[in-house]
Amino acid sequence: MKKIQMVDLKGQYDKIKDKVASSMMEVLDTTAFINGPEVHAFQKELEEYLGVKNVIPCANGTDALQIAMMGLGLKPGDEVITADFTFAATVEVIALLQLTPVLVDVEPDTFNIDPEAIKRAITPKTKAIVPVHLFGQTANMDAIMEIAEEHDLFVIEDNAQAIGANYNFKNGESKKAGAIGHVASTSFFPSKNLGCYGDGGAIFTNDDELAHTIRGIVNHGMYERYHHDVVGVNSRLDSLQAVVLRAKLPNLDAYNTARQTAAKKYTEAFKDQEHIEIPYTESSDDTHVYHQYTLKIINGKRDALVKHLNENGIPCGVYYPIPLHSQKAYMDERYNEADFPVTNQLVKEVISLPMHTELDDEQIDFITKTVIDFVNS
Ligand SMILES: *Cc1c(COP(=O)(O)O)cnc(C)c1O
Repeated sequence: MKKIQMVDLKGQYDKIKDKVASSMMEVLDTTAFINGPEVHAFQKELEEYLGVKNVIPCANGTDALQIAMMGLGLKPGDEVITADFTFAATVEVIALLQLTPVLVDVEPDTFNIDPEAIKRAITPKTKAIVPVHLFGQTANMDAIMEIAEEHDLFVIEDNAQAIGANYNFKNGESKKAGAIGHVASTSFFPSKNLGCYGDGGAIFTNDDELAHTIRGIVNHGMYERYHHDVVGVNSRLDSLQAVVLRAKLPNLDAYNTARQTAAKKYTEAFKDQEHIEIPYTESSDDTHVYHQYTLKIINGKRDALVKHLNENGIPCGVYYPIPLHSQKAYMDERYNEADFPVTNQLVKEVISLPMHTELDDEQIDFITKTVIDFVNS
């Protein structure tokens, strides 16, 4: 059996190696390292793929979120509602901009932000909602867009984990994750579903005016050379990373299908296990692109299982072990433990298994058998 990896970047790279190498050599020869034609071409190709009017590439997914919020003109003291159960980057940029993060609980089955909890957290100061499409599954955008409309709030989708996923609206319409809210951010960190070979990110929006504002913000607030109209940042995707992303984008659907296929095999093996809860998926398979395959171990053996898997050569992860509202940096007297029953429970039960495009049946069989034998022992 091949050595099991949490993420197999090498196996995927081997299949696009020649394309990446030849395009990288061209960039080196032209020396168009920053804002070169490769970046522009990638931007256009991603706009087309997502069905979104504007993609603005930037340096990473954390910057993308921050820049999206700057572009919306949010002001210190404005309240921004987001999920308690997510990667810290989401709440970090809210705090950095001196906005007030308001963390709310998630749903026990999808792990995504709970629309009812959003409603309870709205105050006259609330200006935006940041749903995170966690682990690759789209959040309940019907409900979130409805709440936003009713209360006149911006919706900023943190799409770092779900690029390529669809959301199917109740009215039958379907859109790509990141093409639904007022603005969205994504990350091209190497392990993400569409990852480059360094850092990268992008902002998406259908609002041309907002896109214009953001294009200036990423470039030191310049709309005309050496005229600085707003306070901006320096955040760019470089041409060598764009080369990797252009080689990968045509394969993104196939990559996501490979993840979904691996997820189905896991689920088939785990579905009748009494101590294991499998990830919940909507009826339609395309709403989850399995950035992570995350189980709940409900008999108290999660931590022991992590140790057992590691001892048996099976990498795994606990995303996330501590609720954000309990992190030192984000504690706030406004929070009440009773408001986070789901997150407080999830952090004790979740475990993410190896998930990438190169998993084979032998590896999956070994992983599922090892997990099942242990939780029943
Ligand atoms: C990875 C990630 C980010 C940050 O992306 P970087 O490119 O690492 O800055 C933000 N939000 C979520 C949910 C993520 O998973």
